[in-house]
Amino acid sequence: MKHSKKRQQIISIFEKGDLLTATEVCSLVPEIDRATIYRNLAMLSAKGILREVNVKKGITSYELNKQGDYHQHFICDDCEKIIPVEVDVEKIKSILPQGIDFEDFELNLKGICPDCK
Ligand SMILES: [Zn+2]
Repeated sequence: MKHSKKRQQIISIFEKGDLLTATEVCSLVPEIDRATIYRNLAMLSAKGILREVNVKKGITSYELNKQGDYHQHFICDDCEKIIPVEVDVEKIKSILPQGIDFEDFELNLKGICPDCK
């Protein structure tokens, strides 16, 4: 399999909008070796095709980085379910001190989900 084909295959598993760890990506495309997957995830993040999400403690997850999509993540302390949360980026910008060039942000919200209450 060519490099570009493997890369395309890795990108395609994110197209449903899933948030996936490197380990989960590996289990979804077992035909691609781990080193190639890790290398591609790092490269796709650096290029801005994927974005890194650090909602799970000590574990990086990845999702497609869609332009203008600033949704953030809630994680349940109990079952570790991740729920996407829409955030008004204009509100975030409005609370920044003056003179800051805003680039990006990551909000990780924590608590107990309705199912675990
Ligand atoms: Zn829960």
